[in-house]
Amino acid sequence: MTIKKILTEPNKLLREISKPVDKVGIEEQKLMDDMLDTMYDAKGIGLAAIQIGIPKRIIVMDICREENKKEPMFFVNPVIKNKNPEKSIYEEGCLSVPNQFAEIERPSKCEVEYLNYDGEKKILKAEGLLATCIQHEMDHLEGVLFIDYLSKLKKSMIIKKLSKNKPDRIVV
Ligand code: ZN
Repeated sequence: MTIKKILTEPNKLLREISKPVDKVGIEEQKLMDDMLDTMYDAKGIGLAAIQIGIPKRIIVMDICREENKKEPMFFVNPVIKNKNPEKSIYEEGCLSVPNQFAEIERPSKCEVEYLNYDGEKKILKAEGLLATCIQHEMDHLEGVLFIDYLSKLKKSMIIKKLSKNKPDRIVV
């Protein structure tokens, strides 16, 4: 298992639409293992494959907040089947938008159809943090970041700040 580099905004790859996976094989499982390691290392609760530069519709999550307890979840080709009209608000952050947080409103409950680590078809009925997290991760598959829900001004301020933190570009 390998810890991969997480791409950060601004980066064109983060805006790519990820492609469905044909079948869950050894290669996909290895990718999920690496993604999980990368996510734990970065202290995140969710990671989409595109965040390490791979445009596949694969997500890993672990929203268990107890120390020394791991409850990894794997989602391949997730599709939202049902969204609740009720909304909830969480303060969201993102490993690809470091140190930036904003309150985002999303449907409070949703149903997601997906393939698990073993390629089996499953349905997740999510609410609360789990519902918000899976919707945030599924946005990544469409090239959408949580800052896209903010006003233009707020979003451009965040991107400007993030661009400043990147190392200087040199041409030699
Ligand atoms: Zn994210």
